Amino acid sequence: MILKKAYNMFFKLKNELTLAISTSGHGGMEAVMCNLLEPGDKVLITVNGIWGERASLMASRYGAQVCRIEAPLGSNFSLQEIEDALIKHQPSLLFVVQGESSTGVYQPIEGIGRICHKYNCLLAVDTVASLGGVPFYADRWEVDVVYSGSQKVLGAPPGLAPISFNKKAQQRIFSRKTPVKVFYWDMTILGDYWACFGNPRVYHHTISSTLLYGLREGLALIAEEGLENVINRHRMCALRLHNGLRDLGLEFLVEKESARLPTVNTIKVPTDVDWKTVTSYAMKYYFLEISGGLGPTVNKVFRIGLMGYNATNDKVDFALKILKEALEYARENKS
Ligand code: PMP
Repeated sequence: MILKKAYNMFFKLKNELTLAISTSGHGGMEAVMCNLLEPGDKVLITVNGIWGERASLMASRYGAQVCRIEAPLGSNFSLQEIEDALIKHQPSLLFVVQGESSTGVYQPIEGIGRICHKYNCLLAVDTVASLGGVPFYADRWEVDVVYSGSQKVLGAPPGLAPISFNKKAQQRIFSRKTPVKVFYWDMTILGDYWACFGNPRVYHHTISSTLLYGLREGLALIAEEGLENVINRHRMCALRLHNGLRDLGLEFLVEKESARLPTVNTIKVPTDVDWKTVTSYAMKYYFLEISGGLGPTVNKVFRIGLMGYNATNDKVDFALKILKEALEYARENKS
């Protein structure tokens, strides 16, 4: 019940099929694919980083025909590009990532749901790296399915994926011709485990109570601060970081300012340094994790995460100070 109320607040939705599943963010993606796709169905996936790639791989394992649109590294998709692809491929499901953590790209979601529904297509959105750090309005933006991860901005331990399906998505699941291939993620039965359909609760599996308490506490902390305040704190911290990075003469992978994800910031590795020397220095001397790239950005970027309790001015200043020192060290100690 409390979790449902929290979802209304976080995702801004009123769906009855709203729950947390026993898994990290990957399982949220898997649950979308296995519940909403049947063999032969067409799914359109926006690919501008590793998460679109992963979603494509997962969808194909359920026998779906996978169509993709791709954006250049560090870019997002325009509504026109998405609409053109919907017209061309006529998929039954569109999958979009709001916060592409491998590239640091933010994808605006507003408007996508409306065009999906014009073409009888459902919209699924991954908010694992973005929920709580940027605005999200599931109902207003006509998002049919959305999931996140407990361990990012929500600040809880990893292991639970908040997920919600609206009526349209629910109807799609209940009118499947074939059973959902993964029993563990089957929403027709998991829904009763969470008493989503008005029936008495029925045992399905044993969810971790400790993780549930952790998630509850993470959500409570955000509720106390106020979601809008938390989102604003993330925005302000990212701006502070960006100003500091400019002062260090560094360049952003994401050129368009409006396409920069505040929660994961990607910085081009300068040509005169070895990225591993920089990240190892920060970890060895300060226990600070500056990540390297992931998927298409390996060897190309540093990634600085500002999520939850790490999104504070102090942490930003600390990261900038260490990054400056680590870059100097790397320049002086070239092999
Ligand atoms: N989607 C996005 C956008 C992510 O950033 C991540 C994790 N970095 C995942 C999915 C997968 O989440 P997890 O590692 O919790 O399985």
